[in-house]
Amino acid sequence: MDIEEIKGTKVLKVRNKEDLEALEEAGELIRRGELVAFPTETVYGLGGNALDPEAAGKIYAAKGRPSDNPLIVHVAHPAEIEPLVRAVPEVAERLMARFWPGPLTLIFPARPEVPRRTTGGLDTVAIRLPSHPVALAFLAAARRPVAGPSANLSGRPSPTTAGHVITDLAGRVAMIIDGGHTGVGVESTVLDVTVDPPQILRPGGVTLEELREVVPDVTVDPTTVEDTPPAIGRVRAPGMKYKHYAPEADVIVFEGPPERIEERIRALYDEYAAQGRKVAIMATAETAGAYGERRTAVVGARSDLGSIANNLFDFLRRFDAAGVEVVLAEGVEMVGLGLAVMNRLRKAAGYHIVKV
Ligand code: AMP
Ligand code: MG
Repeated sequence: MDIEEIKGTKVLKVRNKEDLEALEEAGELIRRGELVAFPTETVYGLGGNALDPEAAGKIYAAKGRPSDNPLIVHVAHPAEIEPLVRAVPEVAERLMARFWPGPLTLIFPARPEVPRRTTGGLDTVAIRLPSHPVALAFLAAARRPVAGPSANLSGRPSPTTAGHVITDLAGRVAMIIDGGHTGVGVESTVLDVTVDPPQILRPGGVTLEELREVVPDVTVDPTTVEDTPPAIGRVRAPGMKYKHYAPEADVIVFEGPPERIEERIRALYDEYAAQGRKVAIMATAETAGAYGERRTAVVGARSDLGSIANNLFDFLRRFDAAGVEVVLAEGVEMVGLGLAVMNRLRKAAGYHIVKV
């Protein structure tokens, strides 16, 4: 077991089964109303007791998150949702059976016992049962539902390594559990099952295609797939209206056929470079060869959109660390995990999109 202290925050490295026992202390911190960041299969979460309004308040403060942006409640077992929700629609039963544990968050009507600090003032509650073994052991040790938004400062790219969490939150939380690089790399899919048919409010780790196998008529909140910034009043997942996922660098996304994207990126790169700006290309394995000596990072492969999802946030943070001022990012097809990737990338770019 490896424990370090950074700016007063305990950092606990969990790498094998024996280490899981040390999570008892993390559970104790949650019961005392403290905050603990923890790994999940999607991104790192910033955990606090979901039933304690003060702990929820601490989460918003630590992240600098607007208080109308609701928190996702994490549970270790499906039976734990009962005290939180007023009803479980039949379709939710089928979705939980198929996708839990996993990267699917369901929106239920909330019981009055769920603090409105946790739900961002809404009378619905978002719940997820993650599959990451460290998350499950931590939740079991907490012995209560844990509210956990992504463990980044509000607006920044979500954290996919403990290092990202340390950068953003050391000194602001009691403990950070380091479980290595997360698996999926983008957040959970948020699905509203209080409406019929159910609607995707945020594309994520469970794809639209997978959801259709269980709910053929599932719909998608149009604001999540549009290529223009959503009008505030239209957004159904309050968190999706804020500036999000953004590095310090300016990001420009290029959308269209890969050959045309390559051409436009080369031209724009050379223009920026001639102006003396530090520019970099976020490319894919299939296209990286087209950029010659230009500064190029291969985020993943078009043939494996999961690889892009997995690296996306880490790469956005790395550009900042390298002092890059402008990132020219290749867009990918909006199928499978590409839907979540493009949703995050467009937001990271503040909807600065070049269609080619
Ligand atoms: P994060 O916690 O950073 O992964 O973000 C959680 C996302 O789920 C945000 O976009 C929230 O707005 C959304 N969300 C959480 N609870 C609800 C809810 N009750 N209704 C609609 N969206 C929700
Ligand atoms: Mg977030």
